[in-house]
Amino acid sequence: MTYDAIIVGSGPAGIFAALELLGNSRKVLMVDKGKVISERHCPVLEKKAKTCMNCPVCHIVSGWGGAGSASDGKLTLTTGFGGNLEEYIGEIRLENMIRRVDETFVSYGVDNHAYEPEGSIVKETIRKAASVGIKVLPARIRHIGTDASRVVLNNMYLDLKEKCDILLDTVVRDLIIEEGKAKGIVLKDGTKHYAEHVIVAPGREGASWLETIVNRLQLPIASMPVDIGVRVEVPDSVCEDLTEHFYEVKCLYNTPSFDDRCRTFCMNPSGFVVSEYNRSHNLVTVNGHSLKKTKSRNTNFAILVTKNFTHPFNNPIGYATHIAKLANMLAGGGILLQRLGDLKDGRRSTEARIQRGMVTPTANASPGDLSLVLPHRHLTDIVEFLDALNIIMPGVNHSDTLLYGVEIKLYSLRLDLKDNLEVPGVENLYMVGDGAGVSRGIVQAAASGIIAARAITGSVE
Ligand SMILES: Cc1cc2nc3c(=O)[nH]c(=O)nc-3n(C[C@H](O)[C@H](O)[C@H](O)COP(=O)(O)OP(=O)(O)OC[C@H]3O[C@@H](n4cnc5c(N)ncnc54)[C@H](O)[C@@H]3O)c2cc1C
Repeated sequence: MTYDAIIVGSGPAGIFAALELLGNSRKVLMVDKGKVISERHCPVLEKKAKTCMNCPVCHIVSGWGGAGSASDGKLTLTTGFGGNLEEYIGEIRLENMIRRVDETFVSYGVDNHAYEPEGSIVKETIRKAASVGIKVLPARIRHIGTDASRVVLNNMYLDLKEKCDILLDTVVRDLIIEEGKAKGIVLKDGTKHYAEHVIVAPGREGASWLETIVNRLQLPIASMPVDIGVRVEVPDSVCEDLTEHFYEVKCLYNTPSFDDRCRTFCMNPSGFVVSEYNRSHNLVTVNGHSLKKTKSRNTNFAILVTKNFTHPFNNPIGYATHIAKLANMLAGGGILLQRLGDLKDGRRSTEARIQRGMVTPTANASPGDLSLVLPHRHLTDIVEFLDALNIIMPGVNHSDTLLYGVEIKLYSLRLDLKDNLEVPGVENLYMVGDGAGVSRGIVQAAASGIIAARAITGSVE
């Protein structure tokens, strides 16, 4: 049998591609290496194991619903968050697409209430930020909730399994490409399935598999950005106007000295800074989180500097991990901590100076000197951004503000795709979602699946 389309991956990108294709009466096969929702059990989450058991297929990131389906997912319903689709289809079309994804989630059972920042303090904060060149992006959020997330994804499964063929527990090994056209897929056991179109949606979990395919087919790769920065920790009161009035917010700034794009990321009121072990690169980086029951008196958030590198350099991940390893080297294997005042004065921080300060660190980190780790350019960007942010976070540029290093964000390989997400040079092959580097969240991943499906059906929104 030749399908109209085969979809590799049953995360949000794959599911929404299937929904769109089936709405247009296409014959579809979906394949995922993970299991159906009711059989996705992580031993650590279910407290049957203390540490990761390295299951052959990870239940957290693989299976029906894709990555994060066991988390209390948030749908971010604002352009500017969770991916790069705007570059392909423009802001207006992306807004329409986000609306479409949202309506679909609600129709399968997601609670219809959305958090929307509004009111005079929100307006005043955006106005004040704009006066110093900071763009504040408030996000509209729909909170799915852990149990609801599983129910909604399962509702989608029950609906789709009646309308198309679904192979779970099934690894796709290769794509069949003949005479510059996608023809189908090859499974791990050698079985071949054929289709007129192939949509590849393997998520971050499948990014390295995708990379081998991309290298073998010599597909074009777009330049990949590198996000490098620090985690900032301040007393809760400094960020109150933001954390109390915006459910989630992003601040964007182009720095005066280098015109680099900086952003805030992942703000955690009454939260904790944590160190994170990255197994694949054997290094420790910084992150932050808020806990439901245990609260600190500090708010933390990341400041990230985004840089795009150009030819001949093509190893942005190597660059970022190299910097993170420098911090580990100086911090005795962990993360570094410095007061902003010490950084500006050109001296290292010490235990004594940090203890005398106003902010008590929430993470176990070694006092040291970030200027021995981060390039001058990044440090200048961070200090300039903190000075500008002071207008909406009064006190954030105080000497006692704590900076932890290094926080890095590593992205999947980003493919150079056509605007409809078809691969240039290979007809009828589409690459979507986080694995192709076009999204970084549920909503834009889903939207990317719809874009590819619409290219196949020829339908317009
Ligand atoms: C713990 C956690 C919490 C998260 N919370 C949120 C949140 O609250 N809000 C938000 O917007 N985003 C969140 N995310 C991110 C979000 O889950 C992803 O952005 C989104 O799932 C990406 O969708 P996708 O369809 O591109 O890929 P994925 O969801 O990763 O799905 C890809 C699927 O492809 C399958 N696959 C890969 N390779 C193969 C292969 N060779 N053969 C067969 N199958 C294959 C995988 O098994 C997987 O099921 C979270 C992620 C995690 C890990």
